[in-house]
Amino acid sequence: MNNIAPKLSAKEYESNFAELKPALTDIAAHAEANRCLYCFDSPCMTACPTHIDISTFIKKIATGNMKGSAKTILSSNWVALTCAKACPVDVLCEGACVYNDKGEKPIQIGRLQRHVMDWYVENGMPQLFTPAPKNGMSVGVIGAGPAGLACAAELSILGFDVTIYEAHKIPGGLDTHGIAPYKMKQQDSLNEVKMIKKLGVKTKTGALIGKTISISKLEKLHDAIFIGTGLPKPTELKIPGENLAGVFNALDFVEDVTKRNWKSVKVGKRVAVIGAGNTAIDAATEARRLGAIEVYMIYRRGREQMSAYDFEYELAKSDGIKFYFHSQPKRIVGKKKVEALECLETKIVDGKLKPVPRSEFKIPVDMVIKAVGQNIDDSFLSSIPDLKIEDGMVVVDGKTYQTTNPKYFAGGDCINGGKEVVNAAYDGKRAAYGIRKWIFGE
Ligand code: SF4
Repeated sequence: MNNIAPKLSAKEYESNFAELKPALTDIAAHAEANRCLYCFDSPCMTACPTHIDISTFIKKIATGNMKGSAKTILSSNWVALTCAKACPVDVLCEGACVYNDKGEKPIQIGRLQRHVMDWYVENGMPQLFTPAPKNGMSVGVIGAGPAGLACAAELSILGFDVTIYEAHKIPGGLDTHGIAPYKMKQQDSLNEVKMIKKLGVKTKTGALIGKTISISKLEKLHDAIFIGTGLPKPTELKIPGENLAGVFNALDFVEDVTKRNWKSVKVGKRVAVIGAGNTAIDAATEARRLGAIEVYMIYRRGREQMSAYDFEYELAKSDGIKFYFHSQPKRIVGKKKVEALECLETKIVDGKLKPVPRSEFKIPVDMVIKAVGQNIDDSFLSSIPDLKIEDGMVVVDGKTYQTTNPKYFAGGDCINGGKEVVNAAYDGKRAAYGIRKWIFGE
């Protein structure tokens, strides 16, 4: 990289990556819990993809029953701490709270859920569920992200012997490696992994399916297999200059930042982030908070078509990120290292987005972060017999999560193309029941 952003002081890094939504005090949580109307039809619960009984867990906070509250939450969602901190609550549970209709501030459901889960972790994560007696069946779970963890936890409670196979050395998937530190700490996700291991789930890290363990061995070891491998492969830009020094994939960059060794993360003085989804916003705001002087987001469509949530967009703007809408990268310029990003303007012609001829312009930058999407890892998936993959997603039955190979089930980003952690948590849990139904017919 030509120009590295100046290093900040430890205090500045801590301040830049401080939690955006800090913990509520006991008094504040109690007061907030008492604001809840405990609606009989709880629209907040309907809006939550895992359907946590929100009014009940809030009521239990109000009555001081924290253990009961944790049990209510965890009985619906095994990664509830991550979801409390990383879920887009504004568009899910809090967005559905009846207080919005009155023009008043919705109940801070996310922060209340975090309050309970923090209490649960601080109190040593006491056992809340009694696993069923062992049923003699074994399930292999590929991927220790939220879908795999949720599936493994639920199966363990149902009496299955469960082993998770994770390619990374540290489990947790995107919850551990892909969430911006101002939303949650890596340790939060690791605490959830610890809790799930306490249920008897075994984990094998550094396990590469098809390399360190073959598909046939996996099939011999287990009666059913759950695939929760997410979308690990970044989409390429396929433009000249993509291999220059100073070009990074967004998830690699975000993963580096989650380690909290701020000083060791290389950031250019001027950074271009290509893409406009939530990961792109995370990468842009993180680059800025690490000391980049100028950060640009490049997107070929307009503001209205951005897939990032409004609050993510507002966060990026408040961090001083500059947006180039209707701009399509043409090439990354440089001899050995990134020196500039050349783009073309775009416009809609006959209903199709097209680059405008001779509209080239250059943005001088030292670093380019690619955040234009992720794909499934078909290197081993394609070797599973009869496993159907369509439009880059593993095809499953909508109710049982069984794939087209009956021994395999799947959930999370690899079946939905990339949604929220909470969707993956729901898929994993439902798939556990699909597996039980297939094996025992219940
Ligand atoms: Fe409480 Fe709002 Fe849910 Fe009603 S909608 S139960 S007020 S959080």
